[in-house]
Amino acid sequence: MYICYLDDSGSVQNASEQNLVLGGISVYERHTFWFTQQLDDLAAKIDSSNPAAVEFHASEIFSGRKPPWNKFPNKEERIKIIKDVLQIARNSYRENNIFACVIHKPSYPKQNPMEKSFEELCSRFNLHLAHIYARDKEQHKGIIVLDESSYEATLQKMASDFRCSGTRWGKIRDLAEVPLFVDSKACRLIQLADHIAYAVFRRYESGDTSYLDIILPKFDKENGVLHGLVHKTVDPDCMCPACMSRK
Ligand SMILES: [Zn+2]
Repeated sequence: MYICYLDDSGSVQNASEQNLVLGGISVYERHTFWFTQQLDDLAAKIDSSNPAAVEFHASEIFSGRKPPWNKFPNKEERIKIIKDVLQIARNSYRENNIFACVIHKPSYPKQNPMEKSFEELCSRFNLHLAHIYARDKEQHKGIIVLDESSYEATLQKMASDFRCSGTRWGKIRDLAEVPLFVDSKACRLIQLADHIAYAVFRRYESGDTSYLDIILPKFDKENGVLHGLVHKTVDPDCMCPACMSRK
């Protein structure tokens, strides 16, 4: 089984932001413990007396206002923590791949960007499982795990609709019926997904590639096409890595 942990960055409502990102990592079931251990080790360096209380949340680390991040007055130090988290995804085994979908909100004014990105990622993750079957002749089921959020009811219903009637790109066969929603405090891999979504958001919203550069090699890809990174925009001249790989 593969578990795809997803989180969002950017906001559906905030009109001052152009983009919404849903992103995260697909992890082979036997590797979840490795990720948790790596992130626990990093948490112990932040607060050795109570590492379990350290929750990695990229935008909070960046702003440095709340504990324990206010212990690091130097912004460069806090940026390094975000990059150390991303480096764990980069260093992980080849079975684990990153996925993200960026929606340029003004390009699709009549659609809910969260629903659009979720549909896209369900389809990509399902295709990824089909590629694994074609390559290794191993049939794997997939399950999607998301942070608890206000989108829970909408996304639960969408996922079961996809399973019955398919997405616009075809029927979802290999995913478990409904996604799971968990508390990010209790799930290190959702915290990692938060950093992945943040890295992609920074690239598209602010032109800051320094976070995305760390994880770019881990996106699902085949024959030079970055299947794992999707940029939904009406701009035909976009030069981002996702659009360029499809030209
Ligand atoms: Zn693009």
